[in-house]
Amino acid sequence: MWMGDLTCEVCRKERAVAVASSIAPISFAYGRQCLRNRAEPEWLIASMLEENGGLQGCNKWFLDCVGTYLRGKYLTVREYDRHRKLYGK
Ligand SMILES: [Zn+2]
Repeated sequence: MWMGDLTCEVCRKERAVAVASSIAPISFAYGRQCLRNRAEPEWLIASMLEENGGLQGCNKWFLDCVGTYLRGKYLTVREYDRHRKLYGK
């Protein structure tokens, strides 16, 4: 599939190589690094944590297999949650 000039919707830095279903019922354009790191957009992880009442309400698969990209780093959901508690966003 030709992706043209689509930019990765997770990190907003790399060129997208695929449009795929995310962990929510919505598809995003993903770049190679974000696909490899199973990263989802930061706003999506934040909203899922909110909807589930924090880490304790999330299932193990979500905590073990999904991450996000924030300020140049890939974070697991647990790392992201810790970061949010320490620094706000
Ligand atoms: Zn990316």
